[in-house]
Amino acid sequence: MNAKKNFPIWHPFTQHAVLPDMTHIAGGKGAYLTAKDGRRIFDGISSWWVVTHGHCEPRIIEAIRDQAGRLDQVIFAGHTHDPAEALAERLLEVTPSTLNHVFFSDSGSTSVEVALKMALGYWRNIGKTDRTRIVVMENGYHGDTIGTMSVGERGVFNAAYEPLMFDVTSVPFPRPNDDAATIAALEAACRNGDVAAFITEPLVLGAGGMLMYSPDTLGQLKAVCEAHDVLFIADEVMTGWGRTGSMFACEIAGVEPDIACYSKGITGGSLPLAVTLCRSEIFEAHYSTDRSKTFFHSSSYTANPIACAAAVANLKIWQEEPVLETIGNLAGMQHERLARFAEDARFENIRQCGTITAMDLKARDDGYLSNVGPKLYAFFQERNLLLRSLGNTIYVMPPYCSTADDLDVVYGAIADAAETFA
Ligand SMILES: *Cc1c(COP(=O)(O)O)cnc(C)c1O
Repeated sequence: MNAKKNFPIWHPFTQHAVLPDMTHIAGGKGAYLTAKDGRRIFDGISSWWVVTHGHCEPRIIEAIRDQAGRLDQVIFAGHTHDPAEALAERLLEVTPSTLNHVFFSDSGSTSVEVALKMALGYWRNIGKTDRTRIVVMENGYHGDTIGTMSVGERGVFNAAYEPLMFDVTSVPFPRPNDDAATIAALEAACRNGDVAAFITEPLVLGAGGMLMYSPDTLGQLKAVCEAHDVLFIADEVMTGWGRTGSMFACEIAGVEPDIACYSKGITGGSLPLAVTLCRSEIFEAHYSTDRSKTFFHSSSYTANPIACAAAVANLKIWQEEPVLETIGNLAGMQHERLARFAEDARFENIRQCGTITAMDLKARDDGYLSNVGPKLYAFFQERNLLLRSLGNTIYVMPPYCSTADDLDVVYGAIADAAETFA
């Protein structure tokens, strides 16, 4: 291989030996991407779960344009600016009442790293230095940095990096109508007295296979944490901003986390930004004239003004437009189209949470690294549909502006895929 000419760009989660050609995208509008060769592609996964209202949402783009002409970037240590102030104020209005402080970062992974550091910092600063263990849920995903891999599911994706990861306690994924083992495992872990925090994705485990569990179970997990004084970290990076039918998944369960992570849809999917919100107790444990108690975390672009302005515009849309109604309609349209698969023996585990649907194709070939994932991807791509199944799990997570006609095409193609692969 000519090292300089072949693959100068190394793409994420991409095996270039199997997928040598990238789809070249020139534009995006609403629920569609436009390829450089002119094809219109329906974005059935909201460009990896980030686009909420639609691509190039006019109010968000306008806010970006406006802010770019005023202030592009400024150090956030010892400085502040209008977009960050406005965003924090609005975030505190819409998030659970337990959360009173906003820490900015730039991706879902960093927001989770911040959450873990806040939890450990809290216990250390109040003198309970033995509280260092993190409890996680089986099949969880929280990012691809070393710390977030440590609290996520272990497997082929991260086997090479295992020596760098820290030890955690994992509780089983709660099976439908049978969460006793999960609750018992969390109880047992918490009784050891060394647990700093429990981290989970509320209601839907995204990258772990769009696995869904009930609000009741989520409520029970929170109750166990509360009983043992263990911090509850909600990773709403994917579930936030309407995906599960409510603005945040925790709301549906009436759960108020101690720490929460939000990213992906926070800017409507236009620019990278993340926030970690926490309870006052956690902030106060770091608030001291003793500088060793400082929260030692920052990244260069913390609270970038343009990204914050995009997020403020997103929140205005949520506050001024009937977003929940749009989401409710989308969930209803998804539900209607999912029904036909319930009787279809070629599929199993038909499931839905809000705007997200998922089903497992009983493909002749199983597992993520088997060929069915890439084959399905290519199959849908030929039909101008961006659907990126997780192994044999086909899921649909479209932008909120998707129409009934768009979804008819998507579900028609899924039925056709079963003809070919099941
Ligand atoms: C995507 C995701 C992350 C990581 O976010 P990045 O912005 O990709 O770093 C963390 N947690 C959950 C639940 C996610 O879905």
